[in-house]
Amino acid sequence: MSIFYHSTRSSNELVTSKKAILEGIASDGGLFIADGLANHPIDLATVCTQDFQANARLVLAALLDDFTPEQIAECVEAAYNTNFASAQITPVTPMGSDYLLELFHGPTCAFKDIALQMLPQLMSCAREGDGRNVMIVTATSGDTGKAALAGFAGVAGTGITVFYPAGKVSDIQRLQMVTQGGANVEVCAVEGNFDDVQTQVKRIFANRDLASSLAAKKSVLSSANSINIGRLVPQVVYYFDAYAQLVRSGAITLGTEVEFCVPTGNFGDVLAGYIAKLLGLPVKTLVVASNKNDVLTDFISTGTYNRIRPFHKTISPSMDILVSSNLERLLYLVSDGDVELVSHLMSDLDTKGSYTIPSEMLTRIQNTFACGHATDEQTRRAIRDAWEQDHVLLDTHTAVARYVESCRPRSATPRIILATANPYKFSADVLSALGADTTDLDGFACMDKLATLTGTTPPAQLSNLRSAQILHPNTCSVAQMQDVVVSACERIFS
Ligand SMILES: *Cc1c(COP(=O)(O)O)cnc(C)c1O
Repeated sequence: MSIFYHSTRSSNELVTSKKAILEGIASDGGLFIADGLANHPIDLATVCTQDFQANARLVLAALLDDFTPEQIAECVEAAYNTNFASAQITPVTPMGSDYLLELFHGPTCAFKDIALQMLPQLMSCAREGDGRNVMIVTATSGDTGKAALAGFAGVAGTGITVFYPAGKVSDIQRLQMVTQGGANVEVCAVEGNFDDVQTQVKRIFANRDLASSLAAKKSVLSSANSINIGRLVPQVVYYFDAYAQLVRSGAITLGTEVEFCVPTGNFGDVLAGYIAKLLGLPVKTLVVASNKNDVLTDFISTGTYNRIRPFHKTISPSMDILVSSNLERLLYLVSDGDVELVSHLMSDLDTKGSYTIPSEMLTRIQNTFACGHATDEQTRRAIRDAWEQDHVLLDTHTAVARYVESCRPRSATPRIILATANPYKFSADVLSALGADTTDLDGFACMDKLATLTGTTPPAQLSNLRSAQILHPNTCSVAQMQDVVVSACERIFS
């Protein structure tokens, strides 16, 4: 049976997964979603006998069924090979009586690598029919830009241009980007703050004249946004694979229900867990862990989503989000596909800043989802506890999840915490959580001190930056950004 995708706000137009991946977002502003996922269960016994790559082929083939098995196999082979520092790609390790699902062994040491190593392969494959070149344009405040660069570098028929605000990203984040190799990448600092850069990227996407002049040269602009199903689907894989690892190690038996706790921002990661559940994975609870930006804690507790609230800058910056875009897909799924209701709620969010869901929907959400949040101080305490009690070094995002789990009553259900970044990506905050003084230390000095203090080793992907060659020294003004994109297209695609 074929799977088609349509907008969460209307089911009039059905598209293949390839089209959904190339377009990213539906024309009415909704997100692409498929119906009847529960009718396509994944065979759990098979999952438990296979490695990560085989499970990736199985899950991708189920959800992206217009790709041929050969195409899927090629994409998996290209995305999940020697780019990962762990042969298991996403190993599960013990932490006290819980488990950690380590999603940070990719080229940029964060969980976004899992999806951003795969999305470019899927896009490259999906575009073959029409022969156009795809230029990804991204504004980044730090981490996503590098993960996208690493994923798109060298992928046929694609190019990528990343803009970051000059002086507003950490030294290590800047070095990660400006040392990126590959003939199809462009990186440029912009004189301005992140909002200026982001707004200008949106203008570039909305510029019809630019789109038609690029179309004449067989090029099209696209984004590597986290709402793309090409990013969502690869994240479903590791939920199944984690379960398989636990069955194989004897920690659980086939059929045992488990709990996943997910450090959440845009709701993509935890939504992938819900899709895994719909596809038959025995998931009892998905715990949504937030930092001080606790809009999701309020929503899951009360049914009211209210984005009108103060924005907090925290030590877990990838979770500093007030509008969790992927939540729209959950609303669709728990309303049994009520597109009118979803449209209405999203328009309320837009115009009034808040919406309230009907109580039956809230009950359904609460049947699977639990929630909690941690302040920066509680996050630091969780880093200290994990190190002192379990000898596990956590990053600031994963520590939010550990804190939230520590507040939940323990039951017999095995608990798996998703570890979304390597602690060395956030060395300074991890160090100070452990009680060390970081005054006057730069990024590399913090890495060294963390290594000495804990006897652990920084990942080569980060420590090698010290001697890496700077390939992208350029800076431009906001007004020059479009010219940078146009010349990158000319340089890369001609
Ligand atoms: C992006 C990110 C998250 C949040 O994931 P979402 O899918 O946006 O909920 C958590 N931790 C880290 C380290 C991240 O980079």
